[in-house]
Amino acid sequence: MNHGTFYKEWLRGVWRDPKQFFETRKTRMCPCCGYKGVFVSAKRRGPREFRCPNCASRPRDRQIASLIAMPDLALSQKKILHFAPEHWLFNRLKTEEDYIGGDIIKRKSANAVVDITNIIFPDKYFDVIICNHVLEHVDEDSIAIAECFRVLSDDGFALFTVPIDPSRQNTWEPPETMSTEEVEKICGWDHKRLYGLDIVNRFQDAGFHSEVIWFTQAERELYRLFNEPIFFLSKNNYEKYRRSIVR
Ligand SMILES: [Zn+2]
Repeated sequence: MNHGTFYKEWLRGVWRDPKQFFETRKTRMCPCCGYKGVFVSAKRRGPREFRCPNCASRPRDRQIASLIAMPDLALSQKKILHFAPEHWLFNRLKTEEDYIGGDIIKRKSANAVVDITNIIFPDKYFDVIICNHVLEHVDEDSIAIAECFRVLSDDGFALFTVPIDPSRQNTWEPPETMSTEEVEKICGWDHKRLYGLDIVNRFQDAGFHSEVIWFTQAERELYRLFNEPIFFLSKNNYEKYRRSIVR
């Protein structure tokens, strides 16, 4: 048990959303830290049971953690490029020799400065790329995706997520004349567009094989996940990973 985080998350929940403690909450499991118990919310009107009180993980963290627990997708002894690193994963991997946790600016929870549209590594250098909720902040996302394709080894894989409305087929790109304020009102702070499921075309245009991983209802209940997919990208080696991915 991580007592420091536990008390912090619990207090935050009591302070910001005390009602939750009178609601019936399910027993969940956190694949980031192994905690079993109730999750906490830290916003009165935010999503319920959002964070693991033991490690502060969010649904998008738990989604990735449940996937990399699969034997074929294990991260040990791989060359990994992790953009805008999530704390829990950065802390887990930062001591590995070939781990690059890169961000566009210098940050405490990153060990390199890396621009996703101009990656300072040679072709086919990495075995794994992890890129959660980054592309929506990038002006030229097709350049970012092409750069990731370039630095991924032929045998490697990449995990991408973006904020997505699963009912939306087509990505909405704002007209050039629209002000940043107006765009952000529609898309969210610092977001450049609203992705639809056709984001797979952008991955495929760069040369990737793209598999959309949806989590089952049982997984969403157990880990408390939102209904958002992970895009599993590979080159010509998808068969190698299939058994870890197909649900
Ligand atoms: Zn946890």
